[in-house]
Order: sequence, then structure tokens, then C-alpha cells
Amino acid sequence: MYILPRLCSRHLRQVLQKSCSRNLSTSSQNVPHGHPAAKVDILEKLPVPFGLVRFGVAPDHPEVKNVIHTFTNTARNERCTFLGNVEVGKDVSIEELQGAYTAVVLAYGADDDRTLAIKGEKNPNVISARSFVGWFNGLPQDRDLNVDLDTENVVILGHGNVALDVARILLTPISVLKKTDISQHALDALSRSRVRKVYLVGRRGPLQVAFTIKELREMIKLPDCRPVIHKDDVKDLNKVIEGKSHKLYEQGHQELKNLPRPRKRLTDLLYRTSMEPSDTNSQLWAQASKEWELRFRLTPAEVTETEGKVTGVKFYINELQGDDLVNKIAKATSETEDIQCGLVFRSIGYKSIPIDPCLPFDKRKGIILNKKGRVENRPGLYCSGWVSTGPVGVILNTMTWGFETGKVILKDIEDGAISSEGKEGNQIIKDKMLSKGSRDKRLKKKVRSETYNYNRTVDSTSTDYLKDDYFENSLNVAKPAASQYCMYIN
Ligand SMILES: Cc1cc2nc3c(=O)[nH]c(=O)nc-3n(C[C@H](O)[C@H](O)[C@H](O)COP(=O)(O)OP(=O)(O)OC[C@H]3O[C@@H](n4cnc5c(N)ncnc54)[C@H](O)[C@@H]3O)c2cc1C
Repeated sequence: MYILPRLCSRHLRQVLQKSCSRNLSTSSQNVPHGHPAAKVDILEKLPVPFGLVRFGVAPDHPEVKNVIHTFTNTARNERCTFLGNVEVGKDVSIEELQGAYTAVVLAYGADDDRTLAIKGEKNPNVISARSFVGWFNGLPQDRDLNVDLDTENVVILGHGNVALDVARILLTPISVLKKTDISQHALDALSRSRVRKVYLVGRRGPLQVAFTIKELREMIKLPDCRPVIHKDDVKDLNKVIEGKSHKLYEQGHQELKNLPRPRKRLTDLLYRTSMEPSDTNSQLWAQASKEWELRFRLTPAEVTETEGKVTGVKFYINELQGDDLVNKIAKATSETEDIQCGLVFRSIGYKSIPIDPCLPFDKRKGIILNKKGRVENRPGLYCSGWVSTGPVGVILNTMTWGFETGKVILKDIEDGAISSEGKEGNQIIKDKMLSKGSRDKRLKKKVRSETYNYNRTVDSTSTDYLKDDYFENSLNVAKPAASQYCMYIN
């Protein structure tokens, strides 16, 4: 019986680990005890595994990337195979996969960006934050991104963690970045950067920001850099945080008392940074040569240009509407404000795309239509991660969802809703992928060079997985032979 080609190792682990805990495995690895005959193939369009954990998570967050070690343990299981450089929907169809495997899980993330649809957005100096992240993380497709850092002012549109990642990388001293696994081309470009000021602009207010406290704290502690949070934006928030009576409660806003603790702590930090900075911080910030500024209630109307160069962003000033103070809706007024800058990053979210015409897909939400991970009207086809939920949440949420998907599949097997009857088995897919490669010499070369030259080698055991030979040493991967199309592990 063959279960699951998967597109990214964490989901594989999720499926298997659930099985593991159910059967009290004594193995130190995540053996797929949920179904003792299960074999799992992971199909990935990049030559290497780990998806956004490798190419999304910022290089100065090695502790987050360390989850790769856990995924690797799962991938080492002898019943697991990783097939890299295989693009589902192009190299192999879902129809073909379903003909071969008992269950197929689609977990291909959210590869597309949400766009602004405003004038000037197509200027080369309006860059998707995701591409920029790929660029500094060494993602091959973003290696040649033309990031013009010959400007003092940058606007980042969005108030999420990725926006803060981008701001942090732009403002962190090179001496600090050098110690991370940031790609060499990004390090070279950033060392010539003239960026001094970064505006982080959101449509709503401080109670609606999507970034989290860890990322905000890192921004506040950036060396030689001053946070600018306008007092007018946060001055009313202190009592909200303390949970004491306040004029807002008196006005009937009881929901503020029930703010979740993380939101309270985040709001508290915004408030204190602006209203009650310590003497030490005040002194440090007064001397800082760079700064970042949080701007609220602004919707981009146009990226302004002169002779093809970005000169700034024109914004509509928003009113926040709705009775619920926490879930306000931004409504643009006719008033506008201009912020001058030479570079703009768009960090307003992602969406998935349908990779195969057979998929029932909600284009507006950018998700595969599914119920608890079961793809609608396609028995044996499942989805997990961002492609099933939309691009929200962090790795932990994605893992939790993966565990649930694993549970659902095991249940369907137990209930007889799916079976291996009539399935051709995975060898047919492996053979197809391997033989395809012998016809494409150019691609073979690309696979080899990309696989082993992603990022700089960093002298740190915690970032072992970034070293060139990690995949060979840890996953027993053979370097792709001349005849091979795809990376092949196990
Ligand atoms: C820029 C960025 C930074 C982030 N930083 C953090 C962080 O610091 N901490 C945190 O907890 N969370 C972070 N997240 C969120 C986290 O990355 C996601 O929660 C998680 O990666 C989603 O997992 P996924 O498997 O759904 O998608 P992904 O991790 O994107 O995995 C999808 C995989 O499918 C592959 N794929 C796509 N299409 C195909 C195809 N047709 N055929 C085969 N393979 C395909 C992709 O190459 C990719 O490897 C970040 C997200 C982004 C965008």
C-alpha cells in the first residue's frame, strides 16, 4: 500500500507522527505505525525539501529553521522517499498520482502574491516581499531579483511578520547579518545599501496589526535604529492593556476586556515604546542613524514615479468603522497623504493557485475546496497547510493541520472509504520521473548546481542543514546522477 506523495516534508511528518503517537512507537524516529504497511513519497518542485521553512523564514531566525532537524528525522525513515525537482501539475498530473497511490495529499502552499491593483505597482522598484525574502534566502528563482537599494527611504506595505522581517533585514547592521546564513548576493547588495528609513504602513490601527510580539521586540532592539510610533496612535491604549475601567469600556466596548493575552502584551509594547521609553533607550535612539516608523490607517492609492523611478506612495487616509474596536473595517476617505520613498515592498498576503485543472478551487479565497482536508468530490485526494486553509498562521499551525489530515486519512483507510485496490503503486511514478531526466541534460545541470549552492556555509552547528553536504550526510541522498532528473532520497 502506498500513501501520499507530499510536496513538503513537514506534512509527511504530520501524517506519520500522528500514527506514531497512537501506537506508542518505541522507535526514536517517527515511524509510520498508523498503518504499518504505509509508504510515503514526498514530491517537491524544488530540488530540496522544507519549503518556506528554508526559503521563507528569515536567516537571522535559525532557531525557527531548526525544525528542519525534526522533519529530517521523519524523512530518514526507510519507508519515506523524497523526490525533488518534480512539479505536480506539470511533470505529473493529479490523475496519474491518484492512479498510483492510495491517498494523495496536496500541501503545496501559497505560491502567489496578493497584489494592490494600483497605478505604478508594476514599477521594478515595487517588489513583492516574498520575492525579496526568497532573494535573501537564496531561492534560485529570486536570485536575479533587481533590488535597488540606492535610496534612503523605503515603504513596506503591510503589518504582518513578513513585513517586519523585510524591515529588519534592511536595517540590521551588516556585521550582524554576516553571522547569519543570508545569501552572499544579498549580503553584498545590503552592504552597499543607502537605506536609512523604513515606513511600515497598514490599513488599520494598532489594535489590528498582524505581527507578533517577538518580531516587534526585535525591531525595537535593532542596533543603531530608532522606532517611531506616534503618540497619537497609541495614547488611548494603556487602560485597554491594564484591563481597568476606561472611557472606551464606559462607551460600551466590553470586548476590550476580553482581548487575548498575546494581543494585550503586543499592544502594551507598542504603547510603552511610544509613551514610556526607558532613559537608556531614549539615549540610544537619539543617537541612532537609522529608523523605522509605524504608520496606521493608510490605503495605498498610487505609486508615484518620475522618469521610471519610484518617488513615493500616495495613500488614502482611512476611517476605521464598525462597533467592535478590535475588528474594525478600514474605509478610505477622500483625504490623501504622500510618503516619499525610492523603493516599495508589498507584503499584503499570499494566495494559492490551482496546479491542476481537476482541482475544485475557490479562486477568491485561494484554497482547494475541502472538508477537514478531504478534497471535495475526489475520494483519496486530500489537502493540508496553506493550500487548504489560506495563507494564515505559522509553522506550528501548519503542523497541527497536518496532524489532522493524517488522522483523516487513517480514518478513511479504517472505514474502507479509500483502499489500494486497483492502484498501480509508486514505482510507476518514480520510474517516470527518473526516466524523464535522461532526456533533459540542461535541467540536470541546473539541479546539481542549485542543490548544492543555496546559501553561504555558516560556521554554526545549529545551522548544519544549510551546509552544502547536509542533504548527503543527513538524508543519505545521492548526488543526482547524470541520468537523473530529480533529487532522489532513499
Ligand atoms: C516569507 C515568509 C516567512 C515566514 N516566516 C515564518 C517564521 O519565521 N515562523 C513561522 O512559524 N512561520 C513562518 N512563516 C509561515 C510558514 O512558512 C507557513 O506557516 C508554512 O510554511 C506553510 O506550510 P505549507 O506546507 O502550507 O507551505 P510551504 O512551506 O510553502 O510548502 C509548500 C511546498 O510545496 C512546494 N510546491 C509548490 N507547488 C508545487 C508543485 N506544483 N509541485 C510540487 N511541489 C510544489 C513548494 O516548493 C514548497 O516546498 C513564514 C511565511 C512566509 C511566506
